[in-house]
Amino acid sequence: MTKTTESALADLVALLSGKRFAVLTGAGISTDSGIPDYRGPGSPPRTPMTYQQFVGDSAFRRHYWARNHVGWRHLRRTEPNAGHRALVGLEDRGIVLGVITQNVDLLHERAGSRRVIDLHGHYNEVICLQCGTVFTRAEVHERLDALNPEFTTEVGDVEIAPDADAVIAATESFRVLDCPVCGGMLKPNIVYFGENVPKERVHTAFELVDSGQALLVAGSSLTVMSGLRFVRHAHREGMPVAIVNRGGTRGDPLATVKVDGGTSETLQELARSL
Ligand SMILES: [Zn+2]
Repeated sequence: MTKTTESALADLVALLSGKRFAVLTGAGISTDSGIPDYRGPGSPPRTPMTYQQFVGDSAFRRHYWARNHVGWRHLRRTEPNAGHRALVGLEDRGIVLGVITQNVDLLHERAGSRRVIDLHGHYNEVICLQCGTVFTRAEVHERLDALNPEFTTEVGDVEIAPDADAVIAATESFRVLDCPVCGGMLKPNIVYFGENVPKERVHTAFELVDSGQALLVAGSSLTVMSGLRFVRHAHREGMPVAIVNRGGTRGDPLATVKVDGGTSETLQELARSL
């Protein structure tokens, strides 16, 4: 740990001491669980899938579901890490009021966090865009398996992506599942680029931020407005903002304290010191 990081960490502890606060998390908190952060420093450029691509292009959709079919199994096997657990400990002590996460991996819930707002939804639900029926990903998995009995055996090298994608080559033969109720188009119940976070969910998240005396951001580069708006809001309200992230974030100019470091070690240290 460098001198600068050490003094920033002391500033972080001093800022949050005696305060109750909400935490906003992003992909950076899950990297130590083996889920790559495509926006982290040194990551290859990656174009995120848009809602329009998904609904407008059947070949793209087939490719997406094939990748998701493989990636989902891996995401299900990932485990929460020390950063997630540190936030659970802080919530148990009444210091952390709740977590707003941009991640869809459910690792906060699996670690034991009680109040979690999955801002972008999560990987374990699939919704029909026509009739609105919500299915569990496990149910969809069984049906996809039945439709594609040969598929998984073709898969070789698999990488995990934050949105449950897995990179595989041959997806042309993959058969996509339509809604078992109405035959409509199914989509993971996740907010994609080009979609808005449901209003009620945003409202609940603002309320959570407002119930605290500070806002802690952990592992987000705040690239998308869905996260950045909470930092802007806190700043406007005169609420101190602390940011823990490897590399720069769009919220840095508004931060009272910035720790350029990993979330696992920093949040553990924070939990020990508060
Ligand atoms: Zn339907």
